[in-house]
Amino acid sequence: MKNKVQLITYVDRLSGGNLRSLQDLLTGPLKDVFGAVHLLPFFHTIDGVDAGFDPIDHTQVDARLGDWADVKALSQHMDVMADVIVNHMSSSSPQFLDFSELGAQSDYDGLFLTQDAVFPGGASEAELKAIYRPRPGSPFHTVTLENGERRTLWSTFTPQQIDIDVQHPKGRAYLDSILQALAASGVRMIRLDAVGYAIKKAGTNCFMMPETFDFIDAFAARARALGLEVLVEVHAHHRKQIEIAKRVDWVYDFALPPLVLHAFFFKTARCLKTWLSIRPSNAVTVLDTHDGIGIIDIGADPADRVAAPGLVPPAEVDKLVEMIHANSQGQSREATGAAASNLDLYQVNCTFFDAMGRDERRYLLARAIQFFMPGVPQVYYVGLLAGRNDMKLLASTRVGRDINRHHCTRVEVEQTLAEPVVQQLLSLIRIRNTHPAFNGSFAFDGATDQELRMRWTHGKELASLFIDFSDLRFELRFDGAAGDQSLRF
Ligand code: BGC
Repeated sequence: MKNKVQLITYVDRLSGGNLRSLQDLLTGPLKDVFGAVHLLPFFHTIDGVDAGFDPIDHTQVDARLGDWADVKALSQHMDVMADVIVNHMSSSSPQFLDFSELGAQSDYDGLFLTQDAVFPGGASEAELKAIYRPRPGSPFHTVTLENGERRTLWSTFTPQQIDIDVQHPKGRAYLDSILQALAASGVRMIRLDAVGYAIKKAGTNCFMMPETFDFIDAFAARARALGLEVLVEVHAHHRKQIEIAKRVDWVYDFALPPLVLHAFFFKTARCLKTWLSIRPSNAVTVLDTHDGIGIIDIGADPADRVAAPGLVPPAEVDKLVEMIHANSQGQSREATGAAASNLDLYQVNCTFFDAMGRDERRYLLARAIQFFMPGVPQVYYVGLLAGRNDMKLLASTRVGRDINRHHCTRVEVEQTLAEPVVQQLLSLIRIRNTHPAFNGSFAFDGATDQELRMRWTHGKELASLFIDFSDLRFELRFDGAAGDQSLRF
């Protein structure tokens, strides 16, 4: 991965159109801003129950967005990252429809995970309770196939997302066909979506087990053989993230967004510095994504709160969530928890700009902190535009995460790009991409809990950020061959 800022976006929601209009934006008004783009699911179809994370055909581009040639064309301009939705596929997929019709006679019998494949003798209450769930309710639902057979299927997410038996030869062949389609179309990096749930084993919590690591190792090796780099998407206790990072190319730093909010809200860099001293550096950093702000990533491990405390004490975690709700004037509350048919109980749905109370200076400082963290930064399209909660979209879909998934028009994007806060963010991104210090070595300190100093040095090149969270005094300096400058906002 290039050491440059990447954009995360839906193909249609930023460009107001398709792959070509997105390319036009990225090579026009946003030329030379991003080193890469993570295209959120663009497969057939993008408007199922989970905004593309429930593909009917993962090897086809949704025709409304274009085709594989358009993906390839974009990849000539910048590195492209795409999702591999390893855990499940749509119940409307041709494979599942065939299986529904023919049951054991279907060519796809074995591709879908059934309860009895994991619990041949049935599962006890205790075994069921032990299964780690991202969402409330049971992962099982029993269906009567069209041929009359009864099967209990495994659906980690919604009943329309049927889990794949990734260890079955048919599951493996299915996943390999996706890797091939992506690699053939110029994709350079893949994001292993929700991979922590991919392996199931009776008597375990079925989440990020040694067997899951083995699966990731083997799958990543097959991806690498096709020239693909692998980013693993797992929300989990921070110690688990540290373990995962040791075994994979890249992990997300999902603890960062709530920790940055914590630093501003509680006027202390204490928790952020603790994380800085232990966090992995093969991390993709984010402040926002198409999902909510992860709370589980800074909290105690629910399996053992005493032995595995979080990065932030429980009372402060609760207060942090309340402060996001207060800063967004209650908007995030309407999209979070059990509200708005929200399924991810451990995430707060809100734009990052609104979570920071639309305070432009704090927002830019938050981005500066992100860009100084070791790793490769990603900026979500709504955050790029310092976007606000889309209450209209939320009201029309009643999908909590839609609060942060605005559909932009091209005119709107061009107008927003001219706003001072966005211009300042673009300057920050450009300097992060080009200043040689960021290819050097990193250090951080801070004389008191309130202070944070982050520094990159490479020979005579220096980039440094100092913030005192008690009064928000800050200094952002860049020195070196191209001249010395400090950024103010
Ligand atoms: C994605 C979510 C999606 C889930 C199921 C993830 O972790 O980021 O948006 O709902 O996987 O595919």
